[in-house]
Amino acid sequence: MRSIKVRLIMLYLIVLLFFLGLGFFSYELIIKSEKWVFSSVNRHLSQGRVSQGEILDRFGEVLACTRNGKRTYHEDINIRKALVHTVGDGSVLIPTSVQSRYAKELFGYSPIAGLGAPEIINMNKSITLSLDSKLCSKVSSSFKDKKGTALAYNYLNGEIICMVSLPNYDVENKPSFKIQTDDKLEGIYLNRALSSSYTPGSVFKLFTCAAALDSMEDVEAKKFFCSKIKIVDGEKVSCMKKHGNINLKDALSKSCDIVFCDIALELGKEKMIQKMEEMGFNSSISFENSKLSQSEYRLEEASQGDLGWSGIGQYKNTLNPMHMLRFMGAIANNGVCIEPHTVKSINLEGDEDTGEKLEVKTTLMLKPSTAQKIREMMRYTMKNQYGDKMFSPALMCAKTGTAEVGEGKLPHGWMVGFSYDASFPVAFVVVVENGDFGIKSAGPIASNMIKHLYSSFKNGKYF
Ligand SMILES: [Zn+2]
Repeated sequence: MRSIKVRLIMLYLIVLLFFLGLGFFSYELIIKSEKWVFSSVNRHLSQGRVSQGEILDRFGEVLACTRNGKRTYHEDINIRKALVHTVGDGSVLIPTSVQSRYAKELFGYSPIAGLGAPEIINMNKSITLSLDSKLCSKVSSSFKDKKGTALAYNYLNGEIICMVSLPNYDVENKPSFKIQTDDKLEGIYLNRALSSSYTPGSVFKLFTCAAALDSMEDVEAKKFFCSKIKIVDGEKVSCMKKHGNINLKDALSKSCDIVFCDIALELGKEKMIQKMEEMGFNSSISFENSKLSQSEYRLEEASQGDLGWSGIGQYKNTLNPMHMLRFMGAIANNGVCIEPHTVKSINLEGDEDTGEKLEVKTTLMLKPSTAQKIREMMRYTMKNQYGDKMFSPALMCAKTGTAEVGEGKLPHGWMVGFSYDASFPVAFVVVVENGDFGIKSAGPIASNMIKHLYSSFKNGKYF
């Protein structure tokens, strides 16, 4: 008898647990359904569904919309290609795209209809981007068959006007998976501006320069000496030229490697790491509702020679292009970075005027006095090294970089900078993978982009 009683109690317990579990599951499913559907592990549920809101560029050009049950994209193939990483292709392959990151806003999940809400309901929703799609198309084609990324943003309000990543593809004619084994198309789904980090080369000297201005007394008056070759603990560090006696301003302008090696050695590992971390290295930086690929500055296993090379931007340092754009914005804006963003407004009711304007965030990256000094040095570099003709009539501040990548490949070319004139508040970053010298590869792309932006700003197009 006793054993029957025990079994009965066990049975009741099992039945009770079953109903408790069922209750919990139903609660999660009904009350938190939206969270489950749009969780990053369940993106496949919402991707590819056609009933989504529109995505517009800053001038109202429709980049993606749903018509008669079909998700369609811009009619111009070059615009479709240039914007594919930003807009997305309706699959899960580009997690940083607006269609992935703002799936919840674009779909308008309903607990009753789920993701199957009628097209008419979701058609009223839209997201307006700050990008100029025609400019993106132009800049994208100026890369020809090179890989890389180009960015330009308004450093006073944070609006990204140009963001392209190469190689790209046509969303109406998606590549097969096989295509990824083609070297020319390697990383085709990657938005390089957000999800990659490159060897920075000489553009990193701007960070080393900021560390020197903050931490070395009277560094601007200091005389450095470059004899072309320096042996650090048996390791050779070499410069392109013998610059002789040279001050910090000319060292940045002439991109003297020995001076920036000396600065890193004088500051030492601990101070260099501390300053780089203050400026955003070794931590994940937020970008809208996602994160950027981390920029790295690590010296755990570095020799003294490696420390010297790290100040020049070689060693193992990596830099994310959007992180660099933020740094350019901070130098231009007295040390405060107005955080860059692509989404200008989210309109849930289909009425542009009631669109939710997103809050603009700011980050203090540099002391105001340090920012002002680097700004003047970059202006000096522009005038004396590259010449104002390159961006004429815009007056710019700039720095190029040529980052050695080894393996017998051509170096990555960088050009970064911003306008000296606050009535044209634009900062930019261009990286050309294996493009050779920065001035030769990234220079012409930056020049075309800035000239176009300048005339648009002056014509009042961006206000
Ligand atoms: Zn030198």
